[in-house]
Amino acid sequence: MKLIFEKSVKGRKSFQITKNEVVKSINIKPELLRKENAILPELSELDVVRHFTELSRRNFGVDTNFYPLGSCTMKYNPKVAELIASYTGFAKLHPLLPQLRIGGMLTQGALQVIYDTDMLLREITGMAGFTMQPLAGAHGELTGMMIMAAYHNDKGNDKKTVLIPDSSHGTNPASAATAGFKVKSIKTNQYGVMDLESLKDAVNDDVAGLMLTCPNTLGLFNPHIREICDLIHSVDGITYYDGANLNAIIGKARPGDFGFDIVHLNLHKTFATPHGGGGPGSGPVGVNEKLLEYLPVSVVVKRKDGTYSLQYDKPKSIGYIAPFYGNFSVILKAYIYILMLGAKGLQRVAENAVLNANYIREKLKKYYHLPYEGICKHECVFSASKQLQENGIHAIDIAKALIDKGFHPPTVYFPSIVKEAMMIEPTETESKETIDAFINAMIEIAQLAKSDPEKLKAAPTTTPISRPDETAAAKNLDIANL
Ligand SMILES: *Cc1c(COP(=O)(O)O)cnc(C)c1O
Repeated sequence: MKLIFEKSVKGRKSFQITKNEVVKSINIKPELLRKENAILPELSELDVVRHFTELSRRNFGVDTNFYPLGSCTMKYNPKVAELIASYTGFAKLHPLLPQLRIGGMLTQGALQVIYDTDMLLREITGMAGFTMQPLAGAHGELTGMMIMAAYHNDKGNDKKTVLIPDSSHGTNPASAATAGFKVKSIKTNQYGVMDLESLKDAVNDDVAGLMLTCPNTLGLFNPHIREICDLIHSVDGITYYDGANLNAIIGKARPGDFGFDIVHLNLHKTFATPHGGGGPGSGPVGVNEKLLEYLPVSVVVKRKDGTYSLQYDKPKSIGYIAPFYGNFSVILKAYIYILMLGAKGLQRVAENAVLNANYIREKLKKYYHLPYEGICKHECVFSASKQLQENGIHAIDIAKALIDKGFHPPTVYFPSIVKEAMMIEPTETESKETIDAFINAMIEIAQLAKSDPEKLKAAPTTTPISRPDETAAAKNLDIANL
């Protein structure tokens, strides 16, 4: 076999390197050399195109169907943001291109986008500054907890405990523990929000701070939010607001005004990047004045002459948590989305997210048990406990039956404080027709639970494969790959 490299440039001699010469030059041990040629798949372009098109048609997504997966904000994201993000000037930027060079300031536009998005997020949240670096919501949480730790270290505070209500998002305790804190869980009261008396009992000098998902995973907003912040501040604790689902309050209220010291946002839920499939995401973290100096590097700064640069020189910074520009395309799409909607549009986002969730809550509460009554924010949580008690039907059966009716199931069995939980988040982008069709499907399923429960247990029946044995599928990849 011969590897042949040819240079077609005129005047240059073409040259050839034999396999033996390659082996010699990079010193591969004889026992590591293959004896026969590798069997590589031989497929035509058409076969490959058909394979991937077929896979894409099996996809279930927001572009195909209603996707009310609670706590995930599976909403429609305007295609114009995708289009602009795909412009060569953005998409082909390399992080090592020079920030500033006479005659070609190649990354100045990107730096301005990051800088301006930071400024817009300050206005939206009421915080004093942001890091745009974190690559996901949970990454933002970890960054925030590292900032909390840096603050206490700097002040010489010996504090180890972070308080987190049991209705918070599951990543909250994980992030606090990863940052080295002890987590103390605070229970949720009968109204579905963190119990204030239990919090008062838990606040002491060892408390480094509190992490609050708000609205919480029941979709409920905590009315004691000011008092909670004051309580934590009274022991020099830091308050952290999980704002992954800011669509619940955007343009209406600001975590900074509530008294929070740290906030993270999920640009890939609230601000125009499809969420799911493992990324990419962006979880910017905002802080108030007293924590600004701990923000990670790099930070985009604006120079006096109006140009932008990445600044690394911050002595008290927690350091480096992501390379270069963060997930730039996600930041860019958030920027486009915010500018496109404007203040009024963002307020309508919150209004519609909340209206849609409450419409579903009202329409379905006759059919499914609603463990926490009262107006919700962007999502509502039902329980299948009534169906379980009366007909032996579980939340999972209802979820599978929804697939047959063309809907993605809601989040089930979460939050864990609700038995047989079904967490429904319609988002702000769905039409009344779609939401009504979903409500009707849920009502039909509730009726079927009474009239023919066995049929429900057999769902889904319209999919290429029937209901898998999920325990086996997690262990046996052959089943999982079906
Ligand atoms: C989705 C979510 C997170 C985590 O965000 P990821 O980007 O998935 O890491 C954190 N908190 C809440 C409330 C969320 O909904």
